[in-house]
Amino acid sequence: MIPYGRQDITQADIDAVVEVLHSTHLTQGPAVPRFEQAVLSHCQAKHALGVNSATSALHIACLALGLGLGDWLWTTPNTFVASANCGLYCGAQVDFVDIDPRTYNLCPRALEQKLIAAEKAGRLPKIVVPVHLCGQPCDMQAIHALAQRYGFKIIEDASHAIGGKYLGEPIGNCRFSDITVFSFHPVKIITTAEGGMALTNDDKLAERLGLLRSHGITRDSALMTKGMDGPWYYQQVALGYNYRMTDLQGALGASQMNRLEQYVARRHELARRYDELLKDLPVTTPWQHPDGYSGLHLYVIRLQLDRIQETHLQVFEALRAKDIIVNLHYIPVHTQPYYQNMGFQVGQFPEAERYYAEAISIPMYPVMSEAQQDEVVSCLRETLGA
Ligand SMILES: *Cc1c(COP(=O)(O)O)cnc(C)c1O
Repeated sequence: MIPYGRQDITQADIDAVVEVLHSTHLTQGPAVPRFEQAVLSHCQAKHALGVNSATSALHIACLALGLGLGDWLWTTPNTFVASANCGLYCGAQVDFVDIDPRTYNLCPRALEQKLIAAEKAGRLPKIVVPVHLCGQPCDMQAIHALAQRYGFKIIEDASHAIGGKYLGEPIGNCRFSDITVFSFHPVKIITTAEGGMALTNDDKLAERLGLLRSHGITRDSALMTKGMDGPWYYQQVALGYNYRMTDLQGALGASQMNRLEQYVARRHELARRYDELLKDLPVTTPWQHPDGYSGLHLYVIRLQLDRIQETHLQVFEALRAKDIIVNLHYIPVHTQPYYQNMGFQVGQFPEAERYYAEAISIPMYPVMSEAQQDEVVSCLRETLGA
């Protein structure tokens, strides 16, 4: 069986986690800031807050930016539901911007058109969440310029993208955003089992994120609204959550960070090999924008349905029947029943829907062998009769 993605856990990772198990801290202790520092020094941002998932990071990022009732959050329909749900958690309304047919990322031209209409209607978004699909950075310069013009905040959902670069600089440096979020779910580029992180260069946002991560409670007298009763004292100054990362996760993440660049480089090797091996098949291989160096979390092909006999579903099932565990990223969020019940309709975001009708994520992960890759290609070739 060849999965579409899988984690790599080394003896060093195991030793790091076991060391925490023998220590006095199990939940958020010294390993979490060590992991945060490792991510910060890679990403060149000022603050990083480890949390228990990227979903939690997106939620507190929205809250820290003041999203609430009556506000709008916009994102791409071609993403995992969490990129949109975070807006709903805050009582805001969610809308989508269709994708660019080449990068499959949120299209800045479609964004501008929608902003022009929204300005007239008096319902501009407070937050836009661009998602770096497959690890390929969005056109952040264009989105940032629109943020300046229309006054919205930007949360980069970089769940797929740690280790990638945009304009030669690490994704996560928040040069073109207010907050960047990473996921460390096992299928992502590095893992902490469950886990996520929010990065920012803004001191006030970092302080806010820190409170929201742990019940809105502070032990820092500078953040308190009245004097301390004694050394036991803490104050709740906001309504926060228990979104803390454990030290077990922090230790695993810090250990995984040692291999980040190696992982992404290996993904690039495998992707280049796929590009070559698939070039005469009736599929469209992923286009890489020259401004970016993708984290390459996923390798998505699009079937050229007019050149093959089989349907998308048949190709998908044939590969799974051969134990090639392909996947599909993503079902357009606006077509989910929950979103349809809110009034969204099929047909509203045609590029994302067209993509969905053709896309297949084929297996790719750092510990994949070239023999496994050859097997994927030969099964695909056989299935497509090419
Ligand atoms: C995985 C993922 C998330 C959610 O990450 P968790 O850490 O599982 O909460 C959010 N957005 C995107 C684009 C993702 O791929």
